[in-house]
Amino acid sequence: MSELKDKLFYKQKHVHDILDEAETAASEAYCKKYMDYLQRAKTERLAAAEAIVLAEKYGFREFDRDAPLKAGDKIYRCVQGKLLLLAVVGTDSLEKGVNLCAAHIDSPRLDLKQIPLYEDHELAYFKTHYYGGIRKYQWVTIPLELHGVVSLANGETVTVNIGADPGDPIFCVSDLLPHLAAKQSEQPLAKAIPGEKLNIIMGSLPLKGEEGSDRVKLGVMKLLNEKYGITEEDFLSAEIEAVPAFPVREAGIDRSLIAGYGQDDRVCAFAELQAIYETENPVRTAVCILTDKEEIGSVGVTGMISEAFECFMGDMCDKQGVKLAHCFENSFCVSADVTNAFDPTWPEVSEIRNNSKLNYGVAIAKFTGRGGKSGSNDASAETMGRIRKIFAANGVTWQYAELGRVDEGGGGTVACYMGNRNIPTVDAGTPVLAMHSPYELTAKYDCYMTYKAMKAVYASR
Ligand code: MN
Ligand code: MN
Repeated sequence: MSELKDKLFYKQKHVHDILDEAETAASEAYCKKYMDYLQRAKTERLAAAEAIVLAEKYGFREFDRDAPLKAGDKIYRCVQGKLLLLAVVGTDSLEKGVNLCAAHIDSPRLDLKQIPLYEDHELAYFKTHYYGGIRKYQWVTIPLELHGVVSLANGETVTVNIGADPGDPIFCVSDLLPHLAAKQSEQPLAKAIPGEKLNIIMGSLPLKGEEGSDRVKLGVMKLLNEKYGITEEDFLSAEIEAVPAFPVREAGIDRSLIAGYGQDDRVCAFAELQAIYETENPVRTAVCILTDKEEIGSVGVTGMISEAFECFMGDMCDKQGVKLAHCFENSFCVSADVTNAFDPTWPEVSEIRNNSKLNYGVAIAKFTGRGGKSGSNDASAETMGRIRKIFAANGVTWQYAELGRVDEGGGGTVACYMGNRNIPTVDAGTPVLAMHSPYELTAKYDCYMTYKAMKAVYASR
C-alpha cells in the first residue's frame, strides 16, 4: 500500500495478523471458559444461574438495598431468575454516570404449551409454541433437551432437566421422508413446516395393566410424576423449553471457530461477565446487564423495557443521594448483541463494504432496524467517536457492522430502550454465522475481542 493510501484509507484488520503469541494464548484460554459457560447456559435461567455461581467466586454478593454501599463493592440482583444485573461500584459519584454493557440471555427455541401432553395413534407428544425468530425447518429431526421450572400448587418450584446428561434420553420432532414429501417440497420454506406441527415425541409405550385410550400418554405422565412429582395440571404453571442438545465444539480443521446453540447472545453475555468479574475498583461504576425477552421484543418484567432496571439503578443512586435521571444522562452504554457475519455462500443478502466478517474483531453498528433504520437507536457521531476512542486506546480490534443490504430485512435489539432512557448508546457485538439456527458459528478471535471491548468500556472515563 502506498504511503498516501495508508494515511487516507480506512482498512480493517484480520485479528490473526495482529495478535502476538501471548495474546493468541489469552484468546484460546478465554474461549475455553466461554465454551464451558455456553455448554451449561442453555436457557436464560441457566445462563443467569451459572453467571451467579461464577460471580460469587469473584466476590460479588446479592445487593441488599438496606446495607451500605461503598466504592469497590461488587453486587448483583437477579429478577425472576431471568434478568441479571451486576455492578462494581466506582470511586466517582453516580451523578457522573456509569458504564453499562447490555446483552441478552434468552435465545430462540421451542417452548412447551401450557396443556402440552397428548397421545395420537399410540405416540405421546408435547405441543410447542416457538419463542423468537426461528426458521421452523431447522428444528425438525435434531436432538432436543428439556429445561425449565414447574411451579406447583403448594408454592414449591421443581426444576426440569432431561437430555443434558449423556445418560439421558433426548427428544425429537419428526419430518416427512423424502419419498412422501413431494407436496411438502413444493411449499415455500416458511410454510413447509407449520408451527403447529412442531410436536415433540415423548414416548411410545402404553402403560401395562391399563385399558382404553391414552395408555401411552399415561405412561409418560407416570414417569414425569415419578421423576418430578408433577401432574398434568401443573404444566399450566410451568416454563419448559426444548433447546438443541448439540455439544459446544470447536469447528474447522484449524479450530478457529466455535459451534454451539444460543451464541445469540450468550457470546456477548459471557464477554460482559468475564469483563466485569475482572473489574476491580473502577473510577466510573461498571454495570453488566443480562436481560431476558430480547427475542420477543424486550417486554415484561425481565425484559430491557422493564422498570426492574430503574429499580436496581435507583437503589444504587439512593445510596449516594443522586437523582437517577442525572445518573442516566451522564452514563454510556454498549448494547452488546451479535450481528450477521458475511456469509460467502449467501453474499447476495449483504453489502460487503459495511457488513461484518468473521475474524475481524468486535463489530460496531451505528444503527440496526429495518426499512430506513426504523426501530433503531442510531447512535450519534459523537457516541460512535467515543467507542472508537475507547477501543483504540485499549488494543481492541473492531470492525463495522450493518445487518444486511438496504431493504433486505433487518432486526433490532435493546439499544433503543437504553437510548430512550437518555443514555448515549451504541451497538457492538460478535459476528455470527447461521444466527438463530440450532447450531450457530462464531470465530474465537471475535469472541475474545468482544471480551476485550467490554473490559475497555468498563474501565473507560
Ligand atoms: Mn441478539
Ligand atoms: Mn436474536
